[in-house]
Amino acid sequence: MLHGSTELVAIVGSPITQVKSPENFNRWFQANGQNLAMLPIDIREDALDAFLDTLRGWQNLRGVVVTVPYKQVLAGRLDAVSERAAALGSVNVIRRQADGRLLGDNVDGEGFLNAACLNGFQARGKRALVIGAGGVGSAIAWSLCQAGVSSLALSDASTARCETLAGLLRKAFGAVQIEIGYDSLAGFELLVNATPVGMGGTGELPLPAEHLHSLQASTLVADVVTSPEITPLLAAARERGCSIQTGPQMAFAQLGNLGHFMGVTPLQL
Ligand code: NAD
Repeated sequence: MLHGSTELVAIVGSPITQVKSPENFNRWFQANGQNLAMLPIDIREDALDAFLDTLRGWQNLRGVVVTVPYKQVLAGRLDAVSERAAALGSVNVIRRQADGRLLGDNVDGEGFLNAACLNGFQARGKRALVIGAGGVGSAIAWSLCQAGVSSLALSDASTARCETLAGLLRKAFGAVQIEIGYDSLAGFELLVNATPVGMGGTGELPLPAEHLHSLQASTLVADVVTSPEITPLLAAARERGCSIQTGPQMAFAQLGNLGHFMGVTPLQL
């Protein structure tokens, strides 16, 4: 039930019907007796500037989660963004300050790390491979470097994207060995699919199938794809005895980071 005194948060994207944040947040608000609610907002790109102006003046709105396709386009239009959001050129959450200023951050990588931690993975000193150097892959790579991996290999269908991300990470994290490409999966303690490959039951893998022979049971294999929950990569990893991390686990593990940035939940839910 919404009341006149209910404070709001929102999630903005287009389309929006597929997102799970409204039910996750609204369930938490209700279970914890909070007079707060999350609205899903599907908005056209040509209305974004007017939307941002409205947000600045919207006094009972605390913040907005940002999803596809607006993470990059909104990063350059806010009043301030965190260091990582500036480096990544993308935001997935906005806080509205009491004075109306809009501040942005990107906590996709923090959600990934929280889920990995729950799966027993500690990044410090580890070797990781991230396939996919797009929005979410870049955020995961940034957080892995910040958490102290010793080396990080990047792979993407677009070499230019890999090189751009590698340059960014080398500049920000001099102590981490950043490589482009890989010959074998042996030796990685973490393998991440951060591409959309495997989504929607196509049966596709984000890497050549022959590489799976070199995958060791000690590697944690993670996927960002949320549907299906068990992607072909995760199914193959499980068959080889690996621990796995699903896309929904990552999404769920960042609710506290999103809520905390907007000022409506604690960091740990
Ligand atoms: P994006 O388009 O920014 O990046 C995708 C990258 O994958 C691109 O760089 C592309 O070149 C690369 N790629 C595509 N096919 C490839 C292949 N076969 N081999 C190597 N590289 C390939 O997209 P994004 O915003 O990073 O989103 C990626 C996926 O992550 C989407 O499916 C999205 O739904 C999901 N996602 C999940 C979560 C979560 O919490 N689980 C959060 C954000 C995004």
